Amino acid sequence: MVDIAFIGLGAMGSGMAANLAKAGYRVRAFDLVPASIEAAVTAGCVAAPSVNQAVSGADFVLTMLPTGAHVLDVYQQGEGVLAHARPDAALIDCSTISVEDARAIGEAARADGFFMCDAPVSGGVAAAAAGTLTFMVGGSAAEFEKAKPVLQAMGKAVIHAGQSGAGQAAKICNNMLLAISMIGTCEAFVLAEKLGLDAKAFYDIASQSSGQSWSMTSYAPVPGLVPSAPSNRDFNNGFAGALMLKDLRLALEATHHVGMTAALALKSEEIYSEYILKYSPSRDFSGVIDMLRNQ
Ligand code: NAD
Repeated sequence: MVDIAFIGLGAMGSGMAANLAKAGYRVRAFDLVPASIEAAVTAGCVAAPSVNQAVSGADFVLTMLPTGAHVLDVYQQGEGVLAHARPDAALIDCSTISVEDARAIGEAARADGFFMCDAPVSGGVAAAAAGTLTFMVGGSAAEFEKAKPVLQAMGKAVIHAGQSGAGQAAKICNNMLLAISMIGTCEAFVLAEKLGLDAKAFYDIASQSSGQSWSMTSYAPVPGLVPSAPSNRDFNNGFAGALMLKDLRLALEATHHVGMTAALALKSEEIYSEYILKYSPSRDFSGVIDMLRNQ
């Protein structure tokens, strides 16, 4: 049996680990939160008491953690992945982190002889649970081929973006666009509301017109339109505003590196910063509609 260590069982990782178990892998699940490990066991995984014990002897090591600092910590601390993984293990980080951090972690892993890919995802919590994520993968052709079957058990599309760090480059460009498009979608719904237009009527029209986007058809910020959207659960258990802000800042950092100005991304950073201060860092990013409505 192929063994997979899965570290980080939050909003995304919980569904991903469950799908790997469903596909027949033995998944050793670890998170700092014991209740998340218990939920993973209910979904068919095996509990691991530490990073060290999760990765020892595993064929693959997957991480789905909040930020680059968490990934660096889990990889490089004394009890971490690099110190305890099997020498021929393939390491796959699915978290969204900076291109620089991804390359640094990849270099350290390869220097120790490991296969390593950055493989961030697009799709959100519903896609993680349904096994329909899109993976954008950075690494050599051989590293990509090794990671592919495991990623296919959690996704509908697994795309080789290029060498180490290219997956993260694709992800931050994608999320810069998502951050902007969600604000535009929210502003359009608020204006429709203020003009007396029924939200469902607007949705039925715009979702089949040129205003259509993922923010609208998969993640509508108004409840009752897209059943799996966080707007139906008071913006809980979605993509935290703080994580969207993190991704947007990674993109803005990258614009500085290459000497470009992204005016809409800059304005979006201002809006999401205000949003997480006024509401909560863990509230889904599409909940920004409430702030825009009340302005
Ligand atoms: P989350 O905060 O819900 O989950 C992260 C998990 O990591 C938590 O359960 C936390 O306890 C655990 N963790 C933190 N430090 C740890 C450590 N040292 N050892 C073990 N576990 C540790 O976050 P999420 O929404 O699942 O997002 C994870 C990553 O995926 C982020 O980088 C995010 O940007 C990205 N992402 C999220 C979404 C989404 O819709 N939520 C979509 C695409 C990508």
